[in-house]
Amino acid sequence: MSTENKKTTESSAKETTQTMEFKAEVSRVLDIVIHSLYSNNEIFLRELVSNASDACDKLRYALLTHPELASKTGEFKIIITPDKATDTLTITDNGIGMDKEDLINHLGTIARSGSAEFIKNLTGDRQKDMALIGQFGVGFYSAFMVADKVTVQTKKAGTDKGYIWESAGAGSFTLKEDDSLPLGTSVILHLKKESAEYLEPIRIRHLIRQYSDHISWPIILKEGTKEETINSASALWTRNKADITLEQYKDFYQSVSHAFDDPWLTLHYKAEGIIDYIALLFIPSKPPFNLFQPDRKSGIQLYVNRVFISDDIPELMPFYLRFVTGVIDTNDLPLNVSREMLQKTPVLAKIKKGIVKHILSELKKRSEKKEDYNKFWDSFGIVFKEGLYEPNDEREEVAELCRFHVTGSENLISFADYVAKMKSGQENIYYLSGADLNTLKNNPQLEGFEARGIPVLLLTDPIDEFWVQTYTSYKDKKIVSVMHAKNDLEKIALEKPLEESNLDKEKTDKLLERIKTVLGDKISKVQLTDRLTKSPIALITPEGQMSLHLERLMKANGQQIAFNSERILEVNPRHPLIHKMADLISEGKEETQVSDAISVLYDQTLIAEGEALPDPGAFTEKLNRFILTGL
Ligand code: ADP
Repeated sequence: MSTENKKTTESSAKETTQTMEFKAEVSRVLDIVIHSLYSNNEIFLRELVSNASDACDKLRYALLTHPELASKTGEFKIIITPDKATDTLTITDNGIGMDKEDLINHLGTIARSGSAEFIKNLTGDRQKDMALIGQFGVGFYSAFMVADKVTVQTKKAGTDKGYIWESAGAGSFTLKEDDSLPLGTSVILHLKKESAEYLEPIRIRHLIRQYSDHISWPIILKEGTKEETINSASALWTRNKADITLEQYKDFYQSVSHAFDDPWLTLHYKAEGIIDYIALLFIPSKPPFNLFQPDRKSGIQLYVNRVFISDDIPELMPFYLRFVTGVIDTNDLPLNVSREMLQKTPVLAKIKKGIVKHILSELKKRSEKKEDYNKFWDSFGIVFKEGLYEPNDEREEVAELCRFHVTGSENLISFADYVAKMKSGQENIYYLSGADLNTLKNNPQLEGFEARGIPVLLLTDPIDEFWVQTYTSYKDKKIVSVMHAKNDLEKIALEKPLEESNLDKEKTDKLLERIKTVLGDKISKVQLTDRLTKSPIALITPEGQMSLHLERLMKANGQQIAFNSERILEVNPRHPLIHKMADLISEGKEETQVSDAISVLYDQTLIAEGEALPDPGAFTEKLNRFILTGL
């Protein structure tokens, strides 16, 4: 933040106006917001009203510990004043207000988690970026979609210094002290000509009813001296399900989640029993931009008896369900519940248990409609699978709801589907993990499985590498990497017979010995395998050690790993190349050619694995020599 004084105006020292620059990311967002003809610009009102309501919530909460502030606060309310004479629309609240630091930190930067990462993804194409920004939710800055200048007058509760913040959006804002301001905040929008519709009371009433009806403080429309409350302030979740339309649920979802999509799932129920609570929960249809941000706030708002408490309570939802948004309202906590108490109380744990049970059972129902469920899986499967890894009591239910790619089919399948596909004699569930489906499908390790018609789960998400270490069996079936399927395959009938290997023991031993000599430290061991049918050789890591894929993932992440996994080279005794090499060795011919061939084959398997070659130059040179001989 640059804090230089660019200009000094006005008479008294107190009225000094400071000009400050926005942080770069704010300028980028504002540039897009200001210049886009965003069709959905009406959302600015819901964003500003939501901020005003939050400010009232915050002060109400502060009063619990600082009752002395109350004397200066009236009843909480939000006032909307359109003024056609000045073309301004003002949103006023008597909430917590902002001091100078707040103004600089909250209205001069975008402090939300993941925003920097998100803003990096903006393309420069305004049309596309606006769609992205929509996903991101611009909050306060949405004011600049309809206003060419925004003035914020504010004074923070507990202070006697007031400030006027003002900006036309381009690059900078000004700050001026004015202690005569009342407590709370007024956001004054100097509307653009084309946004004059927002001065019409009928339009304002309509928008408030659509987006902000559930706000628990009165929203008052002020025309001249006339004041009219225009929201019903009835918490939607306390109403009867039968009295709520789909449209109302959707509007509420968009409003609490600052989202633009339709909810994929709406779950509304009242729990009565040991703990009483109401839940109105949603699963979005599109993943929010910051789903993978570790410090992201939970999407669940906690209310106690219709009074907002907090929207940052990690104790309410397991991490693998962090895409769920909505409201929980309970009478089983005191209104003045503190952060420490929230961390300790068993009430939240019980509510959490209830919510999880409901969500999983709802997902189970929806999973019966495959196409519909796949939409959910595409958006959130990658997060949901963390439930196989995180410690929890519901892992078996989570497992039933997971879906996977599998060899021999284009459809996603469940563990149960897999078990139904198992071959006679097959005892384990097999998987192969790697960076992407195409590479996996061509992995030589699958050949022996394909020859026997054994399905193999294809796992491509980084989290897969982790859950396979904690969720090691489904029902009585072990979940085993194809790399570690030692002698399993022998027990299962081939769909078409393999050619018999005619390598004799002596030739084999000599070949394996030579391979080890040529490759040296690159591999720890070389052995024959029955898993390959088309490829001459392949690489595996021993059971219990990090897979090559995980090793690459961690290195790509810049993580230091204490040691590299051992690599075992497996040789297909039926492959003509292997036969040829074995013959040449036993005849004592062509020393360098065979050695070169071993190096080239090894490098090829690295490429197939998706690994960078340690010495691409040497590889090319050797390969070229073979090509030349071939020509
Ligand atoms: P968000 O509401 O998602 O945090 P915004 O861009 O809408 O993002 O607002 C940024 C911050 O500015 C808020 O978190 C809040 O701290 C502050 N703020 C905005 N409007 C008000 C208001 N009316 N009263 C007090 N603080 C406000």
